[in-house]
Amino acid sequence: PADGPAIEAHGLGRKYRRGWALKDCSFRLPAGRICGLVGPNGAGKTTLLEIAANLLEPTAGTLRVFGAAPGSAQAVRRTAFVAQEKPLFRRFTVEETLRLGRELNPGWDRAVAEAVVRAGDVPLDARIGTLSGGRRTRVALALALGKRPGLLLLDEPMSDLDPLARHELTGTLMAEAAEHGTTVLMSSHLLSELENVCDYLLVVSSGGLRLAGDVDELLAAHTLLTGARTGD
Ligand code: ATP
Repeated sequence: PADGPAIEAHGLGRKYRRGWALKDCSFRLPAGRICGLVGPNGAGKTTLLEIAANLLEPTAGTLRVFGAAPGSAQAVRRTAFVAQEKPLFRRFTVEETLRLGRELNPGWDRAVAEAVVRAGDVPLDARIGTLSGGRRTRVALALALGKRPGLLLLDEPMSDLDPLARHELTGTLMAEAAEHGTTVLMSSHLLSELENVCDYLLVVSSGGLRLAGDVDELLAAHTLLTGARTGD
């Protein structure tokens, strides 16, 4: 059910002693899109994702996930988060990790998760600690997708992947969005990591939301502006 926006934020902010990590952000993320959250280090990307994932409380404003508070049973059930540091047990095998996933999440779909793992050529008997960063990302993604989330939040998923693994991840996310209508929100500090997979963009810097909109329109506007500046 993809009625209304997947995420809606009004005046959203998070303040620490040293200042605002995120300030006065208002946006609507349309459901069913693959959205990039782009901005330099310290821009507030992780803060925004963690608020949506119910790991952090805002200190100002509101954020709703499919119309509900992030801490509500409905939002928790429909949201999956893959952190930048993957919280996987290094001594577990992939198989043991998938079994744990099922024990910790009622209704979790083992077949979905296993398909994601196999699509990345990750052996089920491999220990997590021996996997490359790209394969570990894939296991973490498999755990998240086994939840059949309506909203998938990914913090810097591309950062430790080589071009082939990035291409594979892109394919998996696009298939997921096309087949299940999953809304994806993924962060990166590089637009180049996102522009081939995302169709919507949120641009943040210094805790503020600078731009939000369709990738094609933002890139076209950017070309116009840079063209105007160079006199083309
Ligand atoms: P990166 O790309 O480096 O992960 P980011 O865009 O995800 O950056 P955040 O991690 O959201 O940025 O951090 C935004 C700002 O909030 C930074 O200036 C950071 O130092 C500050 N910040 C984050 N967490 C805390 C905390 N627990 N205590 C104090 N300041 C914090």
